Amino acid sequence: MACIVQKFGGTSVADTARIRNVALKVKAEYDAGNKVAVVVSAMAGVTNRLVEYCKEICEDYAPEEYDVVVSTGEQVTIGLLAMALQAAGVPARSWTGWQIPLVTDGAFSKARIQRVEVEALKAAMDKGIVPVVAGFQGVTENGRVTTLGRGGSDTSAVALAAALKADRCDIYTDVDGVYTTDPRIVKAARKLDKVTYEEMLEMASLGAKVLQTRSVELAMKYQVNLRVVSSFEDEPVGTTICDEENIVEKEIISGITYSRDEAKITLAGVHDKPGVSAAIFNAMAEANISVDMIVQSDSADGQSTDMTFTLPESELSRALSILEKSKSEIGFHSLLSDSDVVKISVVGVGMRTHVGVARKMFKALSEKGINVQAISTSEIKISVLIASEYAELAVRALHAAFNLDKKEG
Ligand code: ADP
Ligand code: ASP
Ligand code: MG
Repeated sequence: MACIVQKFGGTSVADTARIRNVALKVKAEYDAGNKVAVVVSAMAGVTNRLVEYCKEICEDYAPEEYDVVVSTGEQVTIGLLAMALQAAGVPARSWTGWQIPLVTDGAFSKARIQRVEVEALKAAMDKGIVPVVAGFQGVTENGRVTTLGRGGSDTSAVALAAALKADRCDIYTDVDGVYTTDPRIVKAARKLDKVTYEEMLEMASLGAKVLQTRSVELAMKYQVNLRVVSSFEDEPVGTTICDEENIVEKEIISGITYSRDEAKITLAGVHDKPGVSAAIFNAMAEANISVDMIVQSDSADGQSTDMTFTLPESELSRALSILEKSKSEIGFHSLLSDSDVVKISVVGVGMRTHVGVARKMFKALSEKGINVQAISTSEIKISVLIASEYAELAVRALHAAFNLDKKEG
């Protein structure tokens, strides 16, 4: 008998027919003699609508109340799925995040999980009852509702699997696994049978939204046996996320990602002297704005230079007003910004041992006439910032250049 956590995303529970289909997938594991706990997202589109309602009321809403609103989608699906399971002859009961409780810190709208109290869930599972748990939501020690950031049900599922010491955590979604790049934009994308935690972590944080970044972090930390599978296939194989030593044939590059939530700020005419970068990035850090790529051009006259950096597009207007306010302190001539940019990244653990990845990447981009505006690297990835209009062209060109395209036939 295995203990399994199954998570179903928004498209998998998009309507009542699909919820009945999900109930059958749960029943199959249950009937096979396993202990099963289920985590569900809100029905597709519901969370987006709830976010819109908040914005319509006022742009400057309190994050505490935003979480109360946007967490409601999941409450509908846990009730409906518990009913569908009962109708299919499987004893089931719903649990909200605060009933469990799944305790988080107080960073509303992007809270981090501190602990999951699983005693009641375990007791139910011992009695043959399937707990149906609302993903995405938690509660602070003080009893306030929180949410875990968009896509956060993945993280709820992995945290629950870790707390239950589950044998497997299966993430059911609308694609049949993790691909070399988003299969919705590159038809030649190839499904990966296995991918390392590290690579998946980079891919998720660089834009592959198939798993929320934090869920991969937790899976890596607690060694959760994680799989991404299709909820529309009968016997899904999917992709296993595991340690590097469990992968025999390893490609140099595993995937290409793109992220559109990027913006670029240039401070033109800053003094070329010590302390200026510190003043700029101190202002950003104090406002809790995370800066990603940084480019400082050489000053021709030894006096002044330009400083460019990237940040999430959603933080752009706040960052500009902070910099404008600190203009005299930092000392710059003018402030320029551009949100028509995307970050394209090439990810692979093989980069540690192989040279020439950067050369191949820049050659492929230049052959398509794509200008690189900023670069950042880590041990297992290279990212470039380019104009958004070239996003798909760049992803396709790199996918082909690194031999990731699916072989015909
Ligand atoms: P769910 O609602 O099940 O959580 P998501 O929409 O959050 O599903 O994530 C699945 C989507 O992630 C896919 O439909 C796909 O378009 C996208 N995606 C982006 N990059 C990748 C990738 N490398 N492999 C697979 N899917 C990807
Ligand atoms: N319903 C939430 C969202 O749309 C959480 C999730 O789907 O994982 O972001
Ligand atoms: Mg998701």
